Amino acid sequence: MAAVADGGPAESPALRIGILALQGDVREHERALVTLGATTVRVRRPADLVDLDGLVLPGGESSVIDKLSRAFGLREPLQAGIAAGLPVYGTCAGMILLAEELEDAIAGQQTFGGLDITVRRNAFGRQQESFVAALPLAMLGEEPVAATFIRAPEVVRAGPEVEVLARLEDGRIVAVRQGNLLATAFHPEISGELRLHALLLESAAVRRTTTPRAV
Ligand code: GLN
Repeated sequence: MAAVADGGPAESPALRIGILALQGDVREHERALVTLGATTVRVRRPADLVDLDGLVLPGGESSVIDKLSRAFGLREPLQAGIAAGLPVYGTCAGMILLAEELEDAIAGQQTFGGLDITVRRNAFGRQQESFVAALPLAMLGEEPVAATFIRAPEVVRAGPEVEVLARLEDGRIVAVRQGNLLATAFHPEISGELRLHALLLESAAVRRTTTPRAV
């Protein structure tokens, strides 16, 4: 940075945000995070989790991501990171992976867990029934979120520690937060909506100042 070249005080380095890159829409999240000034790391092996300030679990197919995460030895380190307070943002399949309980899972499907919610997979029908909603999300201000739903899940139960951030007009819960974990049933990254990623970066910045760098 210019300040360093000038001999001035070093600016703190960009936040390092991992994106679980086993399957799914990794590139769209990279674009959103880089636009917000973060450095991104594609997470495919346990070593990729070292020194992250936050993590995105992208949309895709949750049962495939689950299987691959076990095959690549990522399941346990990811769960350890979640338990240690790593800020994580899960979109769509990523929300499913953070849920403690699933409805309509395939046989043997597991999640990383952490969020005290029950999620019903494919709650809005098939791919053809994808839709974009202008979703009010009070904590992000008056401008509604451009939320893209693609074979999206729905939160059918939220535990007492879970903060419900957004509901569709019919009352269905589609965005939640609990401690270090943020999850949306929809994809903001597809429409260029940046405010949810900015929320992850806020938690990541807090964690960096309060936690020594090591997973
Ligand atoms: N239906 C997918 C699943 O169960 C999620 C779809 C998505 O991430 N867009 O994993």
